[in-house]
Amino acid sequence: MNGRQRAIGMPPQETALLSIQGITKVYGRASMFGGNSKAIAVRGVDLNLKRGQTLGIVGESGCGKSTLSRIISGITPPTSGNVYLEGEPVIDGSTREQRKRLRDVQMVFQSPAGSLDPRMRIGAIVAEPLDIHRTDLSSAEKRRLVSEIMARVGLNDSFLERYPHQLSGGQQQRVGIARALITNPKVVICDEAVSALDVSVQAQIINLLLDIQKDSGVSYIFISHDLSVVASIADEIAVMYMGQIVEEGPANTILSDPAHPYTKVLIESAFVPDPRIEKNRVRAAAVEAAPGTTQPSEGCLYRPRCRHAIAPCEMITPDLLSVGPEGRVAACHNEQSSGASQAIASGR
Ligand code: ADP
Ligand code: MG
Repeated sequence: MNGRQRAIGMPPQETALLSIQGITKVYGRASMFGGNSKAIAVRGVDLNLKRGQTLGIVGESGCGKSTLSRIISGITPPTSGNVYLEGEPVIDGSTREQRKRLRDVQMVFQSPAGSLDPRMRIGAIVAEPLDIHRTDLSSAEKRRLVSEIMARVGLNDSFLERYPHQLSGGQQQRVGIARALITNPKVVICDEAVSALDVSVQAQIINLLLDIQKDSGVSYIFISHDLSVVASIADEIAVMYMGQIVEEGPANTILSDPAHPYTKVLIESAFVPDPRIEKNRVRAAAVEAAPGTTQPSEGCLYRPRCRHAIAPCEMITPDLLSVGPEGRVAACHNEQSSGASQAIASGR
């Protein structure tokens, strides 16, 4: 295939711990004037997460990140597609075996305050997943596990009797992480988990997540609208736009040599050392990236906002294709046509 390979519809990688295949989510909306409209929140997403690694997912608000994370963790059913953990489908939580597998995929949410029951003490909040998934344990064993995991996230036993409102935002998020980790999951999905925190606290939480990963080998799906946050933790990065993955690959390659015009805009708005230039660039990027752009009925979804659109972009939806030797894929006609000429020039 001229050095290029289709990335879509591929079987799960043998090395993948978690494989997301063809996930689509369509929400039906009842209109106040009668009738129904449909919103496609996620469009045919294929992704693989390797054991012990972090897959970052980045994209602006409303592009479908939370919907995808809720589907992966089994909270929301997809319209089509499935998620495989160690080769077994996990979507349908109806059987006991599948529930057991869902224990292996836990979530940390954006708003720690909102996701911790204000009437429960911290000790009970952290122990809750054990009450559901580890009914075989005695109370003493549960207390020991709670104490251990609290220490792991940097909170001593004096926190166990407190209520969520008595903790700072960073401490609350440590509790959210402890609760997610207590069942010893294989995958933790962090959906905007540090977005509500101050920058210095964000860095502490990210360092904590990295330390825990080094010790335990847990894999993360780390979701944020902020590319600089994703860049600080991810091994692989997937860029999402209007429910689609438009570029995916090793974090270093994506950050140093982005292929998709939308990734380039995200990078321009995230990394500029001079604050004056940054102010202008962020504004310029924000104008180009303003949400609410009308969705084209055919061709590339990003075309109305794209500086580099060429003729095929109007008619043909670009597939996610390999654009370089580093295992990177991008859905862009422009990049693919230059990638093809590079491949031919280099004799591939
Ligand atoms: P993100 O997390 O990237 O901000 P979401 O997954 O929350 O994006 O939303 C993606 C799209 O799906 C948005 O257009 C949103 O309005 C729509 N959406 C999300 N949840 C629902 C729902 N329960 N019902 C209808 N539409 C929804
Ligand atoms: Mg979200």
